[in-house]
Amino acid sequence: MSEEKDKVVRIERVEVLPPEPTDADGALIEPWFHSRREYVEIRRRQTVAEQQKFAIFFEAYGCLRCQGKERPHAGNALCQRCRPWFVRKLEEGMEERSKGGER
Ligand SMILES: [Zn+2]
Repeated sequence: MSEEKDKVVRIERVEVLPPEPTDADGALIEPWFHSRREYVEIRRRQTVAEQQKFAIFFEAYGCLRCQGKERPHAGNALCQRCRPWFVRKLEEGMEERSKGGER
């Protein structure tokens, strides 16, 4: 057990993926992200820098909304508190528009 504890692990690359979208928020965050299948295909074609752009932005400037860095990045350059806020506001806006008969 102590041998395992003393092992040195070298991390060559860390890939930052957004949270797995549910059916609901996968559609809500359009056009930032497409369906999971389209998203995977787009990511496969991107450079590493392109794949990490939101995480890099978050690391440099903090959360896009609150500018904080104390909470972890949750995706779309938003922290774990602000991304749910953003998704909720999108849902509310879509619901209001649907009540008005607009699509
Ligand atoms: Zn935030």
